[in-house]
Amino acid sequence: SDHSLDYPPSPIDIDWATHYPAYANTGKLPEFADVGCGFGGLLIALAPLFPDTLMLGMEIRVQVSQYVQDRIAALRVTAATAEPTAPAAAAHYQNISVVRANAMKFLPNYFAKHSLTSLFFLFPDPHFKSRKHKARIISPTLLAEYAYALRPGGIVYTITDVKDLHEWMKSHLEDFPLFEYVDEETLRAEGKGPIIDAVYTSTEEGRKVERNKGDKWLACFKRIEVQRQ
Ligand code: SAM
Repeated sequence: SDHSLDYPPSPIDIDWATHYPAYANTGKLPEFADVGCGFGGLLIALAPLFPDTLMLGMEIRVQVSQYVQDRIAALRVTAATAEPTAPAAAAHYQNISVVRANAMKFLPNYFAKHSLTSLFFLFPDPHFKSRKHKARIISPTLLAEYAYALRPGGIVYTITDVKDLHEWMKSHLEDFPLFEYVDEETLRAEGKGPIIDAVYTSTEEGRKVERNKGDKWLACFKRIEVQRQ
């Protein structure tokens, strides 16, 4: 249970240098958060595309988060020891890390106000039965926390193969005053195409859906600026 986890009281209590040693003393904080990152496919796909951006995965399962940590450590070693001409040398994987955490309870402990530019919810657990809807990772109460952590202009990316969950996430985000829907074409025109491609295809769950020839439902939202009266 959560009680066996050690949570930082607040983001300033986190020693980010242990997560991103190559960025120690840069003052950089994570700007991309992958909630329920699973086996880490998104982080690994995005790492070389945004070498100046720190990214953090949150995963509640112990073995899975440990697997991601080991996977990142191995990628860093491979990159550090690769010949300069080898393809692996282009990516250093120093900018990605993972924490074992219950994101539904402790996201604000990790991300300061307006620190994130991208927040990912990729193929979240559907919790089909309606009495379990409050267990869903997108819910009215949690949206306030996501809006707090996201910088105005920042993007929430959601994708799922479960149409009912897609409609649920979309309607809750639409109803929340600090988010506005932004379609895929607009995001691609704003240069977010590589992110969207990774959202569709880079994760283990997304690949499983592909193998099973399932549909994928994408819904993205922009954190709006608050209008002054
Ligand atoms: N995003 C990954 C992908 O696309 O492959 C994983 C999808 S998997 C269906 C959902 C993941 O969310 C699981 O690894 C699960 O352990 C994790 N998860 C569920 N609830 C969570 C929570 N409250 N905090 C953090 N992770 C959670």
